[in-house]
Amino acid sequence: MSAVSVEHAKDLAGFYDVIVVGAGPAGMSAATLLAAEGVSVLVLDENPAPGGQIYRAITRNTPARRGYLGEAYWAGQPIAEGFLRSPLTYAARCRVWSLDSANPEADEPYARVGVSLGGVARHIQARKVILATGALERPMPLPGWTLPGVMTAGAAQIALKTSGLVPAGRVVLAGCGPLLYQLAVQLHDAGANVVALLDTGAGLRSAWRYLPEFVFSPYALKGLALLARARRHLRVIGGVTRLDIIGEDRATGIRYQTAKTADTLAADVVLLHQGVIPDTALANSAGCALMWNGAIRAFQPRIDAQGCSSLPDIFIAGDGAGIAGALASAEAGRAVALAVLLDSTRVDARSLEQRRQHSLDLCGRWQRGRHFIDAAYLPMRSFLVPQDDSTLVCRCEEVTAGTVRDAARLGLTGPNQLKVFTRCGMGPCQGRLCGPTVVEVLADEWSARPADVGTYRLRPPIKPLRLGEIAALSHTENDTHAVTGLWPEKSDTPSYLERETLNDH
Ligand SMILES: Cc1cc2nc3c(=O)[nH]c(=O)nc-3n(C[C@H](O)[C@H](O)[C@H](O)COP(=O)(O)OP(=O)(O)OC[C@H]3O[C@@H](n4cnc5c(N)ncnc54)[C@H](O)[C@@H]3O)c2cc1C
Repeated sequence: MSAVSVEHAKDLAGFYDVIVVGAGPAGMSAATLLAAEGVSVLVLDENPAPGGQIYRAITRNTPARRGYLGEAYWAGQPIAEGFLRSPLTYAARCRVWSLDSANPEADEPYARVGVSLGGVARHIQARKVILATGALERPMPLPGWTLPGVMTAGAAQIALKTSGLVPAGRVVLAGCGPLLYQLAVQLHDAGANVVALLDTGAGLRSAWRYLPEFVFSPYALKGLALLARARRHLRVIGGVTRLDIIGEDRATGIRYQTAKTADTLAADVVLLHQGVIPDTALANSAGCALMWNGAIRAFQPRIDAQGCSSLPDIFIAGDGAGIAGALASAEAGRAVALAVLLDSTRVDARSLEQRRQHSLDLCGRWQRGRHFIDAAYLPMRSFLVPQDDSTLVCRCEEVTAGTVRDAARLGLTGPNQLKVFTRCGMGPCQGRLCGPTVVEVLADEWSARPADVGTYRLRPPIKPLRLGEIAALSHTENDTHAVTGLWPEKSDTPSYLERETLNDH
């Protein structure tokens, strides 16, 4: 038996026991386990192949790329193969743009997932939904970051993994975090001209107390080996306190400052990165409660010991629930799948619970050392809050840090009102990119805790959807009422369409 691949929304069933969003380590592991237990599972992912971020394109990659992609990447092969051999339904290139929890009082007994697949939008229902939507890169807004030639490190890694593309010309990487070092080494091994890595990390001062735990963690040897390789082959400049990307029509260089020196490096490509944060877009839009995690300076969903969100039919696993890393995410996926099974069956509950505890133990083991990594790579305040008023915060609507600060001084109530005042967060990315910076700027301006500032409440569609797709969706009387204010069968007032028809006559 193998997974059934579906390429068009019309070929999906209307109902599944469980819908898993995301085919990274967490989603693939959860779905594989559930399918093996006879549960009807639908897995939705916007990428063309399974793997998520770390194992991106793992089923399509060539052995020629084995050398520079590294062993941690190829460890994903058996996970993806097991997933594709499982009796489940898998929709690649499928954007999930909305999620609603069940609402029995409104005659909606099941969760509703909005999908766009093959150019058609549709709603699919499920008893339970597991969100395994992973992480996204924290924005790094600094002067010149929107110039052509500047990308995130993650975007460059996507090009490398999916197509073996290596940036041409002189490459400078800037920021902090393990992924920045990993990409620098990968690009160097793949033949890129890496001029320098500018490290903006605050140093180990606040991380020392977690050192003993880190030393005995799975990350210690790997991490030290990576740092040693980077320092052996690349020019690494630490203690960077300020960065300005220079260039008129495109980036031509990057100016940096440390406590002791200031210099400019010529560059054709600048790759920025300052860590990853949970992708909470779907959880947020569904109304799952979020909480501020000061250790990574990001909002993440509030989940219980079962991995269940504040809404009883929405579970969350992997980096989307809190940054855990690939191995812990895979185990978290299994633990959450077992919790979902336990929630819906009384049969064999003891053995399921034992398996769940085992997965949780492994997950904890893989997470050992994370406190050290989080503390060591927490970005400095000057890179979280843009220092220059002219720096763009919202790239979609071109809103600057100065405009956000002005709005904050006008008596704004929070990020949601900022949208109304400035359109910040109302562009195609729906605030995913600017949200974290807006929270930091407002907290800084008000001397408030980010937890008290709060974050955007996202509205569907959280992924771009064509108007034609929305218009073609079947809608209920409630939907019609929400848009027109009219109850179709009760109102004497003609609907918009009826009025148009009457006018025609
Ligand atoms: C850009 C980037 C690069 C990374 N590279 C590395 C690396 O090289 N090495 C490493 O150890 N760790 C890396 N990480 C961290 C690593 O990805 C995670 O620790 C791990 O993959 C988490 O697994 P996951 O299953 O929780 O999520 P992911 O692997 O991120 O999988 C989530 C999946 O959900 C899909 N998805 C999300 N929202 C939607 C939606 N609305 N509709 C449809 N699909 C959706 C995504 O496309 C993705 O395929 C990277 C993270 C990022 C953000």
